[in-house]
Amino acid sequence: MAEQTESESRKLLRRLRDSLAEDSAGQARLDHITEIIAEEMRTEVCSIYLFRDADTLELCATEGLNPDSVHQTRMRLGEGLVGRAAKTGQVINEADAPSAKGFRYMPETGEEVFSAFCGVPIQRLGNGLGVLVVQSREARAFSDDEVYALEVVAMVLAEMTELGAFVGEGEALRARHTNPMLFRGGSGQEGVAEGHVYLHEPRVVVTNPVADDPVAESERLNAAVNTLRVSVDDMLKSVGQDPVDKDQREVLEAYRMFANSRSWMRRMEEDIVAGLSAEAAVEKEQSTARRRLGKSSDSYLRERLQDLDDLSNRLLRILTGQGTNPGADLPDDAILVARNIGPAELLDYGRGKLRGIVLEQGSVGSHAAIVARAWAIPLIVHAGDQITSEALNGDLLLVDGDQGLAHLRPDDSIVSAFRDKIAMQAEAQERYSNIRTLPATSQDGITVALNMNAGLIAELPSLENSGAEGVGLFRTELQFLARARVPRRAELAGIYSRVLDAAGGKPVVFRTLDIGSDKVLPYMKREDEPNPALGWRAIRVGLDKRGVMRMQLQALIRAAKGRPLTVMFPFVAQFEEFKAARQHVFDELDREKKLGHVLPEKVEIGAMLETPSLAFAPRQFFEMADFISIGGNDLKQFFFAADRENERVRRRYDTLNVSFLTFLEQIVQRCNETETPVSFCGEDAGRPIEAMCFAAMGLRSLSMRPASVGPVKHLIRRVDLSAARDMIHEASKSGEQSVRGHVMEWLRGQGPS
Ligand code: PEP
Ligand code: MG
Repeated sequence: MAEQTESESRKLLRRLRDSLAEDSAGQARLDHITEIIAEEMRTEVCSIYLFRDADTLELCATEGLNPDSVHQTRMRLGEGLVGRAAKTGQVINEADAPSAKGFRYMPETGEEVFSAFCGVPIQRLGNGLGVLVVQSREARAFSDDEVYALEVVAMVLAEMTELGAFVGEGEALRARHTNPMLFRGGSGQEGVAEGHVYLHEPRVVVTNPVADDPVAESERLNAAVNTLRVSVDDMLKSVGQDPVDKDQREVLEAYRMFANSRSWMRRMEEDIVAGLSAEAAVEKEQSTARRRLGKSSDSYLRERLQDLDDLSNRLLRILTGQGTNPGADLPDDAILVARNIGPAELLDYGRGKLRGIVLEQGSVGSHAAIVARAWAIPLIVHAGDQITSEALNGDLLLVDGDQGLAHLRPDDSIVSAFRDKIAMQAEAQERYSNIRTLPATSQDGITVALNMNAGLIAELPSLENSGAEGVGLFRTELQFLARARVPRRAELAGIYSRVLDAAGGKPVVFRTLDIGSDKVLPYMKREDEPNPALGWRAIRVGLDKRGVMRMQLQALIRAAKGRPLTVMFPFVAQFEEFKAARQHVFDELDREKKLGHVLPEKVEIGAMLETPSLAFAPRQFFEMADFISIGGNDLKQFFFAADRENERVRRRYDTLNVSFLTFLEQIVQRCNETETPVSFCGEDAGRPIEAMCFAAMGLRSLSMRPASVGPVKHLIRRVDLSAARDMIHEASKSGEQSVRGHVMEWLRGQGPS
């Protein structure tokens, strides 16, 4: 960067800072800033456009354009050169703007006399806040140094906007972080909760973007980067040399590479020379990287961006002296808000004070969702990319996990309606507690066994509270996902044994490790599979990497300590796979016996039916399996070829679709022919109407989240299942795709609930 521009940009920043320090109102400040920039940049025009809403930009201050157009001139995102700079997040530098593609003439501003145009997005960590524009009569392109100076200024403006420095009259200038906002996402776990925001990775608000002493700032930056390097080295040391830790080591090696990157350092040093503080320099480079890489379709680059994000955040926390110990100051009614979160981080927070979780990304089947479900706290996924930047720690947040809605800083009327809803749900749960010890027996005397799904020891108390008969599905992934390395056999045996202890003699079906697809172990190399849900997962991994499967089976046998043991294999697609996996159980039983360990009193080995192919397996498969459990989440996605993780398609096909119900009925028939016990353990089993229809189709065992046991039991006890079956068969002939309408109508005719 040229020596002259260096000092100019420093001078410009200093003038800006001084003007911000003056005690003036928001609009006056903005006006003054445009004046200073135009003067220092020697341009006739300087204007600041800010977002009025997500799609509209408003001219909020100008030096050089018609002052009457301030707060009058608006444009949509993508419209004109200003709209394009905002939309693309890129600088637009045109020597002859009126003849540039997309130029929009705005007569009220009087700008037709200006040729050169440079629009620089004002953005904070990838979130657009507005556009800074300079224009001049002379047709000339702005130099790289001038554009750089404008970017530095835009960065400071972004920080000041964030701090509410321009709050004043006019809606576009309304303080951020004060108004109510509604975020719509998907439901990751039902339930409603009221609480206060706790940001998983709180943004560090840079209060001092401009600094006077570049030498001191550079020293601060260097000291912080050194601390960062030491902490990455420490993390690397703690990982150890075990081959199973190889992948985690690779990630940390990448971190170390970034932390030692000279070009990263050089760019930040340049920003400091230009007048930014160390914090602002870190943030500017983070923003630039997000802008460059954020939209990349290359997953490798996007992952590197996440590394850089993480390192930048750590660096900011070091620079601002903020603790790196998340969760230490968690409020008692915390709603965790994050872009995304891994299971280990979530488990670190603990269930105790968390009332709900809202994720900008995440997905229904993600690890975080599994933990949230295990804890039975409402979770919203795909809440859009604004909530982490809009919400502040301590803001009131209402989470409606049923509808996938998050109300941030809600109005009183919303709060009171929401509290009514919470009270109603509590009342309904109270009603179900009255039938807790009664069986789910229908009016015509058919009894359906209701079990619960679990994945953590902490959930076992629900066995008692919910009235479930046993654990129909114990997912064993969490103990693997939540660690930095493969858990040891003794550790697992201890956990499984405590699960059996906590179940107090009630049956527990342990499902062997179901990883792959979206459940990626942090220490296992992620294979770049084009279709991970159809890829190397679950039993396929278990059969190929026998060490882990055998170790898990040994842990289960030892955990049983002579008690009955029930094992189930996930994602079996053909008989051979089940046979091979079952043989492993026998081999391990033999081995354990030889080693002198006590064997389980009885061992039952079952398969999950999650792929349509298994429904058509040879009869011998059904004879061999001690039981079958229909994994409806996966089965439905493969039956309809609709990704359960994809918000666009996952709700497209109704579970009560005639084809799917007919298919389930056929599976039940095949199981009945060989007298193989069959149950259903996907999420749909916890939805009362779906559960009733499954029971009507012949299923006599369902496994669901504990909170669903009451509502499902309540409905089954109310109805005549034989009549329900006849009604569904009749409705199936109507030619309609789904029988839901008929079922609802029939239920209305069954009298009050
Ligand atoms: C299922 O697929 O229905 C199931 C219970 O397994 P998971 O949701 O863990 O894939
Ligand atoms: Mg499954």
